[in-house]
Amino acid sequence: MRFSRTLIPTAKEAPSDAVLPSHIYLLRAGFIQSVGAGLYNFLPLGKRSLDRVRQVVKEELDAAGCQEVDLAFVTPAELWRESGRFEKYGKELLRFTDRKENEFVLGPTHEEMMVNLVRQSVKSYKQLPLHLYQIKTKFRDEIRPRFGLMRGREFLMEDGYSFHKDEEDMKREFEHMEATYSRIFTRLGLDFRVVEADSGAIGGSGSKEFMVLAESGEDEIVICDGCDYGANVEAAVRAPREAPSYEEGEEPIMSPGDFHTPDTKTIEALADFFHIDSHHLIKAVAQKARYDEGREEIVLFFLRGNDDLEETKACNAVGANELVDVSEEELRAAGLTPGYMGFIGLPEGIEYRIDRELKGESNLIMGANREEYHRVGVTVPDFGEHFADLVTVKAGDRCAHCGGRLSTTRGIEVGHIFQLGTRYSEPLGATFLDENGKSRPFVMGTYGIGVSRLLAAIIEQHHDDRGCIWTRESAPFDLEIVVSNIANDEEREAAEKLYRTLRERGVEVLLDDRKERFGFKMKDFELIGIPLGIVVGKKLSEGKVELIVRDGLERMDLSLDEAVEAVLERV
Ligand code: ATP
Ligand code: MG
Repeated sequence: MRFSRTLIPTAKEAPSDAVLPSHIYLLRAGFIQSVGAGLYNFLPLGKRSLDRVRQVVKEELDAAGCQEVDLAFVTPAELWRESGRFEKYGKELLRFTDRKENEFVLGPTHEEMMVNLVRQSVKSYKQLPLHLYQIKTKFRDEIRPRFGLMRGREFLMEDGYSFHKDEEDMKREFEHMEATYSRIFTRLGLDFRVVEADSGAIGGSGSKEFMVLAESGEDEIVICDGCDYGANVEAAVRAPREAPSYEEGEEPIMSPGDFHTPDTKTIEALADFFHIDSHHLIKAVAQKARYDEGREEIVLFFLRGNDDLEETKACNAVGANELVDVSEEELRAAGLTPGYMGFIGLPEGIEYRIDRELKGESNLIMGANREEYHRVGVTVPDFGEHFADLVTVKAGDRCAHCGGRLSTTRGIEVGHIFQLGTRYSEPLGATFLDENGKSRPFVMGTYGIGVSRLLAAIIEQHHDDRGCIWTRESAPFDLEIVVSNIANDEEREAAEKLYRTLRERGVEVLLDDRKERFGFKMKDFELIGIPLGIVVGKKLSEGKVELIVRDGLERMDLSLDEAVEAVLERV
C-alpha cells in the first residue's frame, strides 16, 4: 500500500483525556478515531491490525476444533428473561423496544443466544462435545468507558461456548482452551500470565483469566515467587496469616470482659488504646448488599484489624449483585452501634460474615455492640455458614500452596475461560438424550477474548517514547519503506523495485512515497510502529539502504539484495 493513497491521519497531539500510551498512540498514529464515550472508528491501519489479531485467534481456535458461527447482535429480551439475567444484568445491558413494542437487548455476551441455538439443533450425546464461537461486536454500557480500546462500550470479542455430556469432558475442554488461548497470546508476542479468577458461586479453579503484565492494567494480580500460583486479587488465597512474633513474656494477655473504650471507633484508635498490634483486633465493615429486584440489606463483615475487605469476595459471600456504602444513620436505625460492632450479641436478623481465618482464634478484641464498649479476650466459636474468605491478599503474604512469598503486580485482562456447568442450560431447558436415553442439561464452558482490547494491551506492553512497536503478528504491515527524497528518481525507482519484489514474496509493505520532509516521515514511521523499516536515501549511491528494526531502533546498512533477505528472514 502507498502511504500517499492511504488514510493515515497522524497527529502531533492526542486529546487531553488520553493518558495511557496505547490510547495516545493509537489515536495519534491514526489507527482509531473517537466517536463518543467508549465508541471508536477503526481507520485503515487499525482495521488491518484488528484483522490480523482476529486471524490469529481464528486460526488457533479452528485448529483446536472450534467452529465459527455468527449470531444476531440484537437479541430478544425473552431469552434474557428465561435465564433471569434481564433483571440481574444492571445498566450495562442496553435494552430497547422495536416499533411493535417487542423488547430487545444488544448482546454484551451471548450465553442465552448460544444455548438457544444449540437447544434447537442438538438432541443427542452423539453430537457432543461441541464448541461454537464467534468474533463479534459486543455492547456494554460501561459506567466508566476509558483508556481507548481498553474499556470501550462497543468492542470486539471472541466468545466461545462449549457443550458437553458431563463435567469431566467440560474440564478437558477447559484445559484445552487454556492451552489454546496461551498459544494465541504467545503468537501475538505478549508477556502474560494465566491466573485464577473470581468465579462467583462456582469457586475453586473454575475460572481463569489471561493477564497481560502491564503497570497500567486495571486488575491487580497476586503471584508467588515459589511456585506458579497466580490469581486475580478478587480470587487470591493465602496461607493463614501468622501472629506477630513477640519476645518471651511480651505476648498480649487478656482477661475476658467488656471494657469501657471511649473514642475508639477506628482500628488505629483501638490499637493505641490497648497498646496492641491490630492483628488482635476485629474490624467490622458495614455495607449494604443489593440483590435482585432492588432488594437491599445491611451486612457486616468481620475481619482482622490488619486486613482489608476484598469486595468481590464479600459480594460472593452473601450472594449479592453489589455492595454499596451504608450511613451511620441507617446502621443506628437497624439497632447497630457504629464503631462498636461485634459478631457476638448482634441485634436479631442482622446478616453477617466472619473471615474464615478467624475461626477458632482467641485473644481478640471486638466491639461489644454497646456504645463505647469493646469485648476483650474473645475466642471465635464455630459460626458455621457465617465463615467466608473475605480478605484482600497483599504483597508479603504467604502462598497457600508452597509457602512462598506472594507479590502483587498489575495486568490487563485479555481473556477469560469459565467452567459454567448448567447455569444457563438448566433454566433455558437445553437438554440432550444421554447413552441411556435419559434427558440431561448440557454441561457448558464459556470462553472470551477481548480482541479489540488486545490492540491496546499489545501497545501497553510494546511502545517507547516515540510510539507503537507492533509485534510481528499484530502489525498493520510487516515493513515500511521510506523514500528519503521522493523527488530523487533513483531513490524512488529503487524503492518501487523493493516494494514490488517484497510484495511478490508475500510481505505486507507500506511504501511512504509522500512528498514530505524525511524527518517528518521518520517520525511517522516511529509513531506507527511497523516492526521493520527500510530507508532508501543518500547511501543508495554506494548501493546501500538502511534497515531499521523498530524495537530498539537498531540500524544496519545493507545492499538491496541483503535487505530483501533480511526482511524475508524476519517476517
Ligand atoms: P472486565 O473485568 O475488564 O470488565 P469482564 O470480566 O467483564 O471484563 P468478560 O465478560 O470476561 O469481561 O469478557 C471477556 C473479555 O472481553 C475480557 O477478558 C476482556 O478482554 C474483554 N472485555 C470485557 N469488557 C470489555 C470492554 N468494555 N472493552 C473492551 N474489552 C472488554
Ligand atoms: Mg472476565
